[in-house]
Amino acid sequence: MKNKQFILAARPVGEPKETDWQLQEPDVAELTEGQVLVQVEYLSLDPAMRGWMNDAKSYIEPVKLGEVMRAGGVGKVAQSRSSHFSVGDHVHGMLGVQQYAVVKDKGLHKVDPELAPLPRYLGVLGMPGMTAYFGLLKTGLPQAGETVVVSAAAGAVGTVVGQIAKIKGCRVVGIAGGEDKCAYLIDELGFDGAIDYKNTDVKAGLKQYCPDGVDVFFDNVGGEILDAVLARINLHARIVICGAISQYNNTSAVKGPANYLSLLVNRARMEGIVVFDNAKHYGEAAREMAGWIAQGKLKAKEHIVEGLESFPQTLMMLFKGENFGKLVLKV
Ligand code: NAP
Repeated sequence: MKNKQFILAARPVGEPKETDWQLQEPDVAELTEGQVLVQVEYLSLDPAMRGWMNDAKSYIEPVKLGEVMRAGGVGKVAQSRSSHFSVGDHVHGMLGVQQYAVVKDKGLHKVDPELAPLPRYLGVLGMPGMTAYFGLLKTGLPQAGETVVVSAAAGAVGTVVGQIAKIKGCRVVGIAGGEDKCAYLIDELGFDGAIDYKNTDVKAGLKQYCPDGVDVFFDNVGGEILDAVLARINLHARIVICGAISQYNNTSAVKGPANYLSLLVNRARMEGIVVFDNAKHYGEAAREMAGWIAQGKLKAKEHIVEGLESFPQTLMMLFKGENFGKLVLKV
């Protein structure tokens, strides 16, 4: 049986281009004991994939040149030499950008397509949802009545952060690119304010929508937006450094916060998070979030693009703000 897969062909400089990957069609390998063959159905496209392409020390090994591009995904077991999985089971794991994945059973866990549509296990019930849940609740420590600001607010992580902050009784302000995204945050998700950073002044927006300052900032973007929010933080504010997508394609040094003395003045805390640190507790979080979804308090939005071959262009949508909600590739 033939596979189709994208391998990493070159390390990008700045924005990745199509030639940084190569589409190959090798035979699917025979299974050995403990392995499972998964027919990949949906792939999670994440900003982190840009970082995995760099040959640099990080929280996870870089993808090696010539290796299948790493990606989380969900799919169906097509063959099994594991006592834990049967043909027809649906599973989640690091499946890679390919049609068929040969994976060790230890790296997979079952998902139930009857309980939620499969793409949801890559969004609100998957890695981005867990990032929002633990990043906000364990590090952001929001208290009812406080003001929470989130950047990349209309994205996979941002939409969940804002909605959980609302559930916890906070005033929530999102920063996102474009009128449509801002209208969605307010009209559909119940945010108290939304700042269109592409068309309006962020500093003025923060002044308008955060009249009492900012207690928690959940930052997905970094750069100038981080600086603008730092200028508005309150005493003992918590800044959650979840990501810095504005910096991932830099060819020069990452732009650090110029306003960091605001942390000193306000006795505030800025702390980085990595979702995998909470892996042991994903089950509890998923149960609580599934409850909120059932009660209509937490809405999920997926942006699904079809076709494995479109992987390079689809991934780049994240860096152009062309995705609206969790970006998923249907294989
Ligand atoms: P996402 O928000 O669904 O998509 C990325 C969004 O970033 C785009 O839609 C775009 O929205 C915004 N963006 C892109 N370039 C930008 C720029 N130059 N300036 C400002 N905004 C820009 O992606 P996601 O999966 O939820 O990830 C969001 C962030 O969380 C990323 O930084 C990611 O690396 C981070 N993350 C971290 C962890 C962790 O464990 N620490 C885990 C998951 C994700 P607009 O249209 O609004 O510009």
